[in-house]
Amino acid sequence: MSKRPIIAGNWKMFKTVAETRAFFNEFLPLVSGVSHCEIVVAPTFTSLGTAASAAAGSRVAVSAQDVYWEKEGAFTGEISVSMLLDAGCAYTIIGHSERRQFFGETDETVNRKVRAALAGRLQPIVCVGETLAERDGGKAVEVVRRQVRNGLAQLTESDLSPIIVAYEPVWAIGTGRTATPETAAEMHGEIRKTIGEIWGGPVAAATRILYGGSVKPNNIQELMRREDIDGALVGGASLDPASFAAIVKYL
Ligand code: PEP
Repeated sequence: MSKRPIIAGNWKMFKTVAETRAFFNEFLPLVSGVSHCEIVVAPTFTSLGTAASAAAGSRVAVSAQDVYWEKEGAFTGEISVSMLLDAGCAYTIIGHSERRQFFGETDETVNRKVRAALAGRLQPIVCVGETLAERDGGKAVEVVRRQVRNGLAQLTESDLSPIIVAYEPVWAIGTGRTATPETAAEMHGEIRKTIGEIWGGPVAAATRILYGGSVKPNNIQELMRREDIDGALVGGASLDPASFAAIVKYL
């Protein structure tokens, strides 16, 4: 399995359809020569189709920000794997800390979503990360190891190959307080160790682990120099075409 870096942008609840179109008009020419990494953009549900049409024929792939595990039915407000594929998504974020904090996402619901995405061949970007209280309480490693074990429970060795893990310490998201490259690399090492304990060293070595939390054009290069960091999940700085392009072009 290739270990190409991935730079993914999570737009959260920002951008209308018109703003999505304007973003791609400006962004695509800026990254047209990029081949060193995969580029992923995760707009809101209403902009997925627009993003997918705009990105068609480019190297940019589209991701959802969440998915539900059932195929269809009376689940008001939810969206299925096949609907996301139909809208042009290749990826979905699962278990973002904002979903965990504000919308009742648990390791168990993360796991159900991961298994549904894999079954439908939608590539999961599974977010894990400790809160500030957990870090200050010395529990960061324990929490993240539990999120990895439970979020990826019941997966086979071959299930792991499309899985992308994003380590996003909650205290670094939207705060401007990036984890130091040392802290990020240490936590990526713990995540890789956890995967290795369950699925073996080669699977762990092949799994891409992204860092997320206040990634900006001025800190991406230092983060990407660490061997255990295979890319970034970018929130705020992915909303502006020039700043997201600068992050994509970190080399
Ligand atoms: C995120 O939302 O996944 C994120 C990392 O946000 P930010 O880059 O704004 O901290």
